[in-house]
Amino acid sequence: MTQAVSFRGVCRHFGTIRAVDGVDLDIADGEFFAMLGPSGSGKTTCLRLIAGFEQPTAGTLAIYGEPAEGVPPYRRNVNTVFQNYALFPHMNVRDNVAFGLRVKGVGRAERAQAADEALALVELSGYGARRAGELSGGQRQRVALARALVNKPKVLLLDEPLGALDLKLREQMQGELRRLQRALGLTFVFVTHDQEEALSMADRVAVFAEGRIQQVGTPEEIYRRPASRFVADFVGSSNVLPSDFTGTGPSGRWASLRPEDIRLDPAGRAATVTSRAYHGRVVKLGLSLGGQELTALLPPGDLPEPGQSTHISWDPAKVHVMGPEA
Ligand code: ATP
Repeated sequence: MTQAVSFRGVCRHFGTIRAVDGVDLDIADGEFFAMLGPSGSGKTTCLRLIAGFEQPTAGTLAIYGEPAEGVPPYRRNVNTVFQNYALFPHMNVRDNVAFGLRVKGVGRAERAQAADEALALVELSGYGARRAGELSGGQRQRVALARALVNKPKVLLLDEPLGALDLKLREQMQGELRRLQRALGLTFVFVTHDQEEALSMADRVAVFAEGRIQQVGTPEEIYRRPASRFVADFVGSSNVLPSDFTGTGPSGRWASLRPEDIRLDPAGRAATVTSRAYHGRVVKLGLSLGGQELTALLPPGDLPEPGQSTHISWDPAKVHVMGPEA
């Protein structure tokens, strides 16, 4: 399989700060790849390394098999969509989109046509003459996307591209990005700290912490079989429990049990309700079972109040026991 991007032992240290600290990673051609992790975990620095805005302090990076060392950003066949969009507010939409082509010396008619094609891709045909500063947040996001697509990159880098949008628009744009990525067959590398966004959009996800990749896998692998306590906790607020408590797997390990896999069961173990919060489609119950705190997500209905006792159980097959080092 062709690899679009390959990291081999890549580090980017800033003095004593290890922003990226030994990353090995292959991103396949045509893949929608998400980099997920808390703030400061090194995701953006990885993206900037691919773009060529940063250089590794150790290790090597290849783009479509070619070593990236010494290749400037504009020669990399890679384009970035930034979180703040970085549009020129007084320029019209078409000129914003065509800006990169103008810098490259592409003629006026040709760049206007290319810009209109890119605007059609993001469903903004007819907006070319509007000033960028007059657009809504969602429209600006599309213009930023068109401006990257007009260069026909093979790899599109997206740094929290939906971060500035409200929830509804964000969900809509998630679907559109996915559709566009499939239709164009491009490689997308998407940075986010939103686990739901990463899991719902990506073919594969890398979970970052402290400059290192904790786990790479499909959304289902990451969610169902987290490799470490950190991943279990970060991806989906799991209950991370000693395996002795769950009674599953070898003693002395950590196990993860998803809140939605806990059910009320009169034949189950006795627990005390410590909190209850209504979240629309689900209710979040805090529970204490033999001194162990647990979180359960349950469908709304006749649920016990804080302070009351209840009985709970779970299917042992839903408990994921992590490796000895985790
Ligand atoms: P966020 O989600 O907040 O953008 P991130 O996971 O993308 O975070 P990075 O931006 O890659 O994280 O930063 C990783 C670490 O490297 C942070 O501690 C950051 O402060 C540090 N860092 C990044 N760029 C520089 C720089 N130019 N000089 C010094 N330190 C830097």
